[in-house]
Amino acid sequence: MDIQRIHHKISQYQKDGKRLFATSSFQTNSITLLHVLSRIDKDIPIYFINTGFHFPETISYKEKITRLLGIRVIDLFSHVPKVMQTNASGDLLFTFDPDYCCYLNKVQPVEKLMPQFDVWINGVRAAQNHIRKGVQEEQKTRDNILRYHPLLDWTNENVMAYMKYYDLPVHPLEAKGYKSIGCEPCTRPANGDSSRDGRWAGMKKTECGLHLGGGSSKVEAGR
Ligand code: SF4
Repeated sequence: MDIQRIHHKISQYQKDGKRLFATSSFQTNSITLLHVLSRIDKDIPIYFINTGFHFPETISYKEKITRLLGIRVIDLFSHVPKVMQTNASGDLLFTFDPDYCCYLNKVQPVEKLMPQFDVWINGVRAAQNHIRKGVQEEQKTRDNILRYHPLLDWTNENVMAYMKYYDLPVHPLEAKGYKSIGCEPCTRPANGDSSRDGRWAGMKKTECGLHLGGGSSKVEAGR
C-alpha cells in the first residue's frame, strides 16, 4: 500500500510516452483507485463498461464520484445491440449464456479500445479471490498491452482504512448487504468471506473474463 510508488510508476509511464487508460465498475471499493488516480492525473481516461444492466444506484454513484473527484469518465458500450443478444424466444443472453453475455458487453468493448493505448490500469486485488491471487502487478495481455494493477497487494482492511481516512462515499447498495456489485441480473446480497461473493450466485462463474488470461476472452465474437 505504497501510494508514492504508484505515483512514481504512473509518472514514469507518462514520461516514457505511454498512453494510459483505466477501467472502473464503480462498485464497492472502486473509489479507492479512482481517488488515487485523481491525485496523480485527473486527465487519465476512466472507462465505465456500461452493459445496460447496472443497478440505478451504480449509475448515480458513478455520477456522484465523477463530480466529487473531477475525473474524466467515459461510458463504453457493446457494439452489439441488445435485440441481437437474445434467443428465438426473446430471452436475453444472461439468462442462458452468461459467459457470452459478459464477452459481448464487457470484454469485447475493452478489446476494441486496446489499440489506442499502451497501459491499462485497473483495480484488481489479490485478496479478492483465488483467481486474482495469481495476477502480477504488471502483466502483458494477449493484445500486447501492459496491465498495471496498482492495488494488487491491498487487503480489504487497507481499502477500508483508505476510504475512512479520506472520508470517501460508499456505494449505496453496501448498506443493503451487497459485497460486490456488477450487473443487476447477476448480483445478489451476500454474507460470505470473499469480497466477490454474490456475483453469479449459484453458478460456477466467478469472473466476467476481463481479468482472466491476460485481458482477452477465449470466446469468439460473432458466435
Ligand atoms: S454480469 Fe450478467 S448481465 Fe452483466 S454482462 Fe455478465 S452475464 Fe451479462
